[in-house]
Amino acid sequence: MAGEFDIIQRYFRFPQGQGVVLGPGDDCALLAPEPGQQLAVTSDVLVEGVHFPEEAAPDCIGYKALAVNLSDLAAQGAEPLWVTLGLTLPHAEEAWLAGFAGGLRRLLERHHVSLVGGDTTRGPLAIAVTALGQVPPDAVLRRSGASPGDLICVSGTVGDAGLALMALQGEVSLPADAWQQVAPRLHAPEPRVALGLALRGVASACIDISDGLLADLGHLLDASAVGAVLRLEAVPFSAPVRQWLDAGGDPLRLLSAGDDYELLFTLPPEREARLSALAETAGVALTVIGEVQQGTGIRLFTPSGEAVRVKPLGYDHFGND
Ligand code: ADP
Ligand code: MG
Repeated sequence: MAGEFDIIQRYFRFPQGQGVVLGPGDDCALLAPEPGQQLAVTSDVLVEGVHFPEEAAPDCIGYKALAVNLSDLAAQGAEPLWVTLGLTLPHAEEAWLAGFAGGLRRLLERHHVSLVGGDTTRGPLAIAVTALGQVPPDAVLRRSGASPGDLICVSGTVGDAGLALMALQGEVSLPADAWQQVAPRLHAPEPRVALGLALRGVASACIDISDGLLADLGHLLDASAVGAVLRLEAVPFSAPVRQWLDAGGDPLRLLSAGDDYELLFTLPPEREARLSALAETAGVALTVIGEVQQGTGIRLFTPSGEAVRVKPLGYDHFGND
């Protein structure tokens, strides 16, 4: 059985990249952001049984623990550079560690991010990743910049991860091809790093969808002290989600489901013509789904033209306390 230092040495020693003055091995890592840039710092904790089931593939756990953090950096317009990993493990199972480290490394390499340190202890399985990125002070994307008249845009498609989770929990049964399409959205979401960078100086406000479109739009609107209209017809859904909706599924259910990790942003209307070039640069579809208005809350226009006020519900860990 591997000891603590063997584990670190064997599984979590990866090549070090940009801005790493001193990587893992000392008491601290030493990091150098480029002159004039601000550090953007974010943490997410994933706990077995809460964020992923006991039987989840270790590769997916490693990947997703990083993906959710890179998504936060993207939403702030930051360039991801470094991460630390806090890991508590019930036991040092080699196959699990190899899978976990492999999933983590795949995404680290894709975005040229260095694992610069961490902590490894025994305990119930939990993973805490802290990610650091850099962003010029005048290019930061915040939740608070939306103004009445701005367009509300979303990347990719919405609700795939929510549908996959319902299938996993046995609540819906999906045809095999539909499952093949939505499962990766839940297990291995693509953080929209290139889009976050492309939106610098373009979007007036931005947030990533981790708790659900309505909940996260609600956060952005609250931070900006504005309201919004949303057109359900305009919301981009994948083919499996459309099929489920056509069969009577409740769209509000998916607009309140988390884990999409798409970016939701607002755009001054005179910049609408830039959307197609932005989509091209970022390699993901961008869709206008509504408009920022004065006031508070979200009004949702259904395809029949009816307007309903929706509660910005989403996932809340302490919501039932
Ligand atoms: P200390 O006792 O000084 O906190 P540790 O013994 O916890 O140091 O860790 C030794 C070194 O290994 C440190 O540089 C730490 O950042 C690094 N490290 C520990 N766990 C991990 C991990 N899971 N991934 C990457 N680096 C790690
Ligand atoms: Mg330590």
